[in-house]
Amino acid sequence: MVTDSKKRKVTIVGAGSVGSTFAYALAQSGLADEIAVTDMNENFAKGQALDLVQGQPFLPQVNIHAGSKADYRDSDIVLITAGAKQQSGETRIDLLKRNAQIITVIAREVAESGCKGVMLLVSNPVDVLTSIALKASGWERGRVIGSGTVLDTARFRYALSRECRVDARNIHGYILGEHGDSEFAAWSMTSVAGQPIDEYCAADTCRSGSPFDKQKVIEEVRNSAYHIIDYKGSTYYAVGLALTRIAGAMLRNENSILSVSTALEGEYGLHKVCLSVPCIVDRDGVTRIIQSNLSDDEQNLLEASASRLTEALKSLE
Ligand code: NAD
Repeated sequence: MVTDSKKRKVTIVGAGSVGSTFAYALAQSGLADEIAVTDMNENFAKGQALDLVQGQPFLPQVNIHAGSKADYRDSDIVLITAGAKQQSGETRIDLLKRNAQIITVIAREVAESGCKGVMLLVSNPVDVLTSIALKASGWERGRVIGSGTVLDTARFRYALSRECRVDARNIHGYILGEHGDSEFAAWSMTSVAGQPIDEYCAADTCRSGSPFDKQKVIEEVRNSAYHIIDYKGSTYYAVGLALTRIAGAMLRNENSILSVSTALEGEYGLHKVCLSVPCIVDRDGVTRIIQSNLSDDEQNLLEASASRLTEALKSLE
């Protein structure tokens, strides 16, 4: 939990492309007072921390240093990007077995440290690994969350902003379900200027000119990571910003509504599965799950996503 009097501390586990890009974005944001950068390769973490901290004259005051497990204890957020990364052509579920063991060990160590903060999972497949970390930690569900579809939602808003030719910040909507192949757009919750997206696009004010292809938009969002990985090996800039948004919601106790991955215990008729639905995020992590009125099709897609994730979890037993 972030207390008002205390310095805001974030520990990053895994200082690779995503961890270091997040550290870079977080340092510039001024949201944290201390950033500890850790990695199984200690020299790599030292190098990343040194490279970052030498930007101090250009940054808000922030203590960036290479860290260790000792940093977990007084962290407000332990953000976990450790693990193997998705190879070209490899699905996120393929990564599961490689990363499940790594995350179990780290989650236990964070819990045993006496940390009172929030664990934020990023490593893929993030929803399944969030379930694994939750179980390994023994913590309450709101304190072990995954970055979920916050990145995918940003991709969705960007795609719609191009279709409608309005600022992405004025597009409201969510990608829900798995962060991966079964994710879907909750069109029933998508709006521009307070108008449902279909109504907005049907009116003369919409600058898109012609009705856009919803299927094309969702496919573009779903396949983004595959394209970026094919082009350059991994994705890290947009996710670094998405993680800064989630961290900020906790560090500033914002009560932001974000599509993070959280364990459902009856919400949307689903049990014992972590996936993304709109949640209120504050200093204690997820403190409320919003029960939106999904259309029948969307509810079916959410259930299909949940089944897929439940099967992936079972494959580990
Ligand atoms: P990377 O290979 O660049 O970095 C991973 C780092 O983890 C490496 O530096 C490695 O040494 C370290 N590591 C491995 N095992 C460790 C352990 N046991 N303890 C501490 N550190 C350990 O990979 P990346 O590109 O930074 O991606 C990291 C993860 O984030 C991947 O699983 C990737 O699929 C995922 N990712 C998630 C999202 C999302 O939206 N959730 C987006 C992009 C990437």
